Amino acid sequence: MVGDSRTRTVPIKLDVDESAAGLLHQTTDYFLDAANYVVDVAWEPDWKITSKQTLHDLTYYDVRDDSPLPANLVQAARNRAAEAVKGVVERWKDGKKASRPHFTSRFASYDARTVTVNGDHCTLATIDGRVTAEFVLPDEQRDTPHSAYLFNDDYDLKGATLHYDEIEDCFYLHVRTKPTVENDDAEQGDAKHVSVLGVDLGITNIATTSTGRFWSGGELNHWHREYEKRRGYLQQTGTRWAHENVQRVGRKQTERFEQMLHTISNELVEEALENDCTHIVFEQLKGIRERLPYAKAVHKWAFHRLYEYVTYKAESEEIVVRQINPTYTSQRCSKCGFTHKDNHPHNNGQDEFGCLKCGYDVHADYNAAKNIGLKYLRDQQKSGRGGAPVGVRLNSGTLNVNGEYSPTVING
Ligand SMILES: [Zn+2]
Repeated sequence: MVGDSRTRTVPIKLDVDESAAGLLHQTTDYFLDAANYVVDVAWEPDWKITSKQTLHDLTYYDVRDDSPLPANLVQAARNRAAEAVKGVVERWKDGKKASRPHFTSRFASYDARTVTVNGDHCTLATIDGRVTAEFVLPDEQRDTPHSAYLFNDDYDLKGATLHYDEIEDCFYLHVRTKPTVENDDAEQGDAKHVSVLGVDLGITNIATTSTGRFWSGGELNHWHREYEKRRGYLQQTGTRWAHENVQRVGRKQTERFEQMLHTISNELVEEALENDCTHIVFEQLKGIRERLPYAKAVHKWAFHRLYEYVTYKAESEEIVVRQINPTYTSQRCSKCGFTHKDNHPHNNGQDEFGCLKCGYDVHADYNAAKNIGLKYLRDQQKSGRGGAPVGVRLNSGTLNVNGEYSPTVING
């Protein structure tokens, strides 16, 4: 899994009384069952479901009905299962061998809502309220991972995984921490980093992200062309039957497009989650049809729908969705900042962006997506957000508002 390079994991042995241990055992058992159940659902014979949103839709209420796990732990089990299935699919894509995931050792994933860590103890959500667990810490507290990352004001709790160690017959909490961000996020009201997923909308590619993911508009364009042809032909006949037929085909098309846009919006939100983004930023939808010379009414409709779906789905993940004024985002070089209308030299094949100043050559939609993210950050800075650490997520790292680049580091 790609993690933030600044995340540190500290394992701590827990000391719990008998009743707390009983609850933790039951909680990890249910957690294991829930995660394995989600894998079962994801593991279709002919395809594998890796979308967290889809798995949520397919499993959440079943698990809530059948187990006493609190909602946050149900979601955590689903996420863990989705990641495991995704990991297998990714290995297959790389031509490697991997078999269906099955969780066997007892564990449970916690986030900042389900675990609290205080000096010498923590509290953990269970199937029946919270329990307190004392930490068993090394006698010498200096220069330990605990003193460096856990009992250090410069680090914040990100989450934790509870493990049961069969051999030692005790629980361990693996706590993840991250350096504290000093500045307040004006929008969220608490100290939080801002990292942005920029999204460019278009005809050839309906959506392109600053992380370099593309969603083709091919199907939508093809279906729509076919529909228009059919409509033209049927309207010439002018009969009532023809009129009804056009309406029926139109409704079917709308259903198809809506389904497709649901899928794209799920994947966009997942892309943001996977890249630890706090924001998803689009260009302003107002006037988009005028800005895209080949856009038809159906595209305008699709962009609005997509934005609506993403906004709705991002909300439950606590991701902020915004629009920015897109002026110059297609003419600006996302590498050096040079802005010129001739930076976009190929009028026929608009796929390529070529910078006249630094020679940066890149897919035009990807360049625009990065600029959309950067524009949002610059707007935020102007409005007084000051020097809070901010960045646009790219496929290989982060670009900050000053154009400085930092690569993503894979953490073990
Ligand atoms: Zn350039």
